[in-house]
Amino acid sequence: MTEKILVGIDIGGTTVKQAFIDMGGNIITKWEIPTDKSDSGKNIVPDIVKSVQEKLEESQIHKSSVLSIGVGAPGFIDVENGMIFEAVNLGWKNFGLKKQMEELMGVPTFVDNDANLASVGEMWKGAGNGATNLVCVTLGTGVGGGVIAGGEIIHGQNGMAGEIGHIASVVEGGAPCNCGKKGCLETVASATGIARLGLEAVTQSPEGLLKKKLDERESISARDVLDAAKAGDDIGISVVDTFAHHLGLALANLSNTLNPETIVIGGGVSKAGTFLVDKLEAEFKKYAIPKIAKETAIRIATLGNDAGVIGAAWLGKTSLKKMENEVQ
Ligand SMILES: [Zn+2]
Repeated sequence: MTEKILVGIDIGGTTVKQAFIDMGGNIITKWEIPTDKSDSGKNIVPDIVKSVQEKLEESQIHKSSVLSIGVGAPGFIDVENGMIFEAVNLGWKNFGLKKQMEELMGVPTFVDNDANLASVGEMWKGAGNGATNLVCVTLGTGVGGGVIAGGEIIHGQNGMAGEIGHIASVVEGGAPCNCGKKGCLETVASATGIARLGLEAVTQSPEGLLKKKLDERESISARDVLDAAKAGDDIGISVVDTFAHHLGLALANLSNTLNPETIVIGGGVSKAGTFLVDKLEAEFKKYAIPKIAKETAIRIATLGNDAGVIGAAWLGKTSLKKMENEVQ
């Protein structure tokens, strides 16, 4: 096999997702291994390297066919040097991820934040559909974000750009957020936030579908709330309306600033599909400048868990090309 391939790696707190990807961004093969967080995460990179080498052998691909490795990791990252300042989930502090990977694999490696790479994954092969000005929001346990302008990931001065989940004081004096503040967007727009709003609402007026769920399971999930709203349940609808208002307003403000072509909504909550997009669009249009309201598309992410590895492969491919251009 002489054709070059890209390796995409997405390191999460529970599993490391890995894939061999062709130059067009199509997955050749993908697999995952558990994340070993013991000893401040010192086994993570050696585990990845071992697993990539085994998979190369199994797929009968020679190591010289690997053009580059892209790695997405959670936390605060110095992308220039591939250094992780801190990834609390993995136990890493001032960790030279790029350096260790290159030492062990002997292949050029590039590192970026996992949410940013999921965003470029969607840009390259997913809902972004070729758009080069993109805002991506992932609604999962938290709210992740990525901003792409002119085909480039926006990092900001310290790599902190795109922290959409921490748009502040969406609810004045609201629920505590993981960042240490109160009432950030994440506290009302994440799966955790929607579940909490659902529980609060049904505790206040114990009736309808959510009351039934609560009696069955003594808890409420974001999915329960969205399903109830879809089925026409009043409490479910009021919670989803609150959520859609806050997120739609935040996205309108972002769009008034960044003028993206497409907003991509991903993460577990996005499984609510068209129902969610319709609600969000209605709120978005209330607050976006008319031309932006008319021309910005809101789409559900299409790559699911593959977005991270595909985006990581894109990073490896494009970073290497940039380096080569600089040398010439
Ligand atoms: Zn916050």
